[in-house]
Amino acid sequence: MLDHLAFETPKPKVIAGAKSDWELVIGLEVHAQVASNAKLFSGASTLFGSEPNSNVAFVDAAMPGMLPVINEFCVAQAVRTGLGLKAQINLFSAFDRKNYFYPDLPQGYQISQLYHPIVGEGEIIVDMGPGVARRVRIERIHLEQDAGKSIHDMDPNMSFVDLNRTGVALMEIVSRPDIRGPEEAAAYVAKLRQILRYLGTCDGNMQNGNLRCDVNVSVCKPGAYERYQETQDFSHLGTRCEIKNMNSMRFIQQAIDYEARRQIAIVEDGGSIVQETRLYDPDKGETRSMRSKEEAHDYRYFPCPDLLPLEIEQAWVDDIAATMPELPDEKKARFVKDFGLSEYDASVLTAEAENAAYFEKVAEGTDGKLAANWVINELFGRLKKEGHEIGQSPVSPEQLGAIVALIKAGDISGKIAKDLFEIVYTEGGDPAKIVAERGMKQVTDLGAIEKAVDDIIAANPAQVEKAKQNPKLAGWFTGQVIKASGGKANPAAVNEIVARKLGF
Ligand code: ADP
Ligand code: MG
Repeated sequence: MLDHLAFETPKPKVIAGAKSDWELVIGLEVHAQVASNAKLFSGASTLFGSEPNSNVAFVDAAMPGMLPVINEFCVAQAVRTGLGLKAQINLFSAFDRKNYFYPDLPQGYQISQLYHPIVGEGEIIVDMGPGVARRVRIERIHLEQDAGKSIHDMDPNMSFVDLNRTGVALMEIVSRPDIRGPEEAAAYVAKLRQILRYLGTCDGNMQNGNLRCDVNVSVCKPGAYERYQETQDFSHLGTRCEIKNMNSMRFIQQAIDYEARRQIAIVEDGGSIVQETRLYDPDKGETRSMRSKEEAHDYRYFPCPDLLPLEIEQAWVDDIAATMPELPDEKKARFVKDFGLSEYDASVLTAEAENAAYFEKVAEGTDGKLAANWVINELFGRLKKEGHEIGQSPVSPEQLGAIVALIKAGDISGKIAKDLFEIVYTEGGDPAKIVAERGMKQVTDLGAIEKAVDDIIAANPAQVEKAKQNPKLAGWFTGQVIKASGGKANPAAVNEIVARKLGF
């Protein structure tokens, strides 16, 4: 059991209507593109940004007589994702055809898993601040094919179709309606994305549509959700609307807020919510109806006759389990415990696995807290200013570790360390050597410091008189001595000598 799991549950978001208070209930269906070089049922490449229609196998184009062949790696990725979400892995799953017509869907159906998904119930701990988190239940994860892309803005009279994305593997990750506000919904997507990136099962690039979600929203009176939780009876909840295809954290929050207020206004006005699919228009800041339940497709699902049920073995699942990386929650808890970091600093450092690995190298053999300060404030701050990722850092973790070790050993002051960091960042080099060669070492030679203090005292008799009246002014002498030393005098030693010389 992780210490981290001892958290407090956040309050649900409450919106005051004209007549009463309302709470939000949200469930998310996230489509995550499986990180894989080849598609789910063909060997065609999944490379983003390729020449249109260049990554299309015959089966992707639905040529007559072509048969799908399951990509074992994509199945392993789904299993890995399930394990990462502490979910039930179903050794038996099966593919179904979801039938609909669309120009970018040459088969006329999408192969998906309706009745027997590969992954069952799991959970995600959604962090809402230090010590505050929401446990969101995962209902299922199933594998399915992505569709192609219709392009309507290249020609005034014609539309084009690009089949590069056709057949790329997606994981649909369905949550229970356990999310209670817009911020939580965004935090849920962020946490899921983080876990997927740690696992290496999805790149999570939202701009490229690599991770997109359908957001289900309903509203209810306070107390109704608790009755649903006790009974798992959905009739305690309000009717939901689904907002399709969101791929921005900001728009997810805006859409939920707008949609909840729209529903509240209707219900308070004596109307009722019609279950429907809606689209969010970011320019207008509103959702509008796309299709109602009556117009909803009848997908005529049936088991795909081209594919045998998917049976996997526990031993194979165990092999995958044996290669699981340390996940964000565990890593964060370990950083708090082993390095004495605050939960906030641990969160920042574990946001990406690469950042965490960098920090651990810096902290190796030196002070963890000091290392965390330097990684977060100096390095991340500097990289961010230049729009760089950690992988592009001109300062290696070994170099930063050496800087931190020099501070820790009292060889350089914090101020000199900043200069040193700047030199290493722009010119490179071995920090210890730079300090030696450029005479940056902190002076703890008490004789030299004493001489400097004497000089300053002799040159400023008026200031000495004032300081004798008001001991707080001793700091001025310390500052002068450190300044005269070019920042190299050890402040603690200077303080002590100044105090003694002034007779405190
Ligand atoms: P469908 O198959 O029609 O998409 P599901 O039962 O699979 O319906 O639910 C889809 C999503 O809607 C799930 O994420 C679920 O948690 C969510 N959901 C279900 N009921 C509600 C509700 N009353 N309010 C908000 N979200 C809901
Ligand atoms: Mg659905």
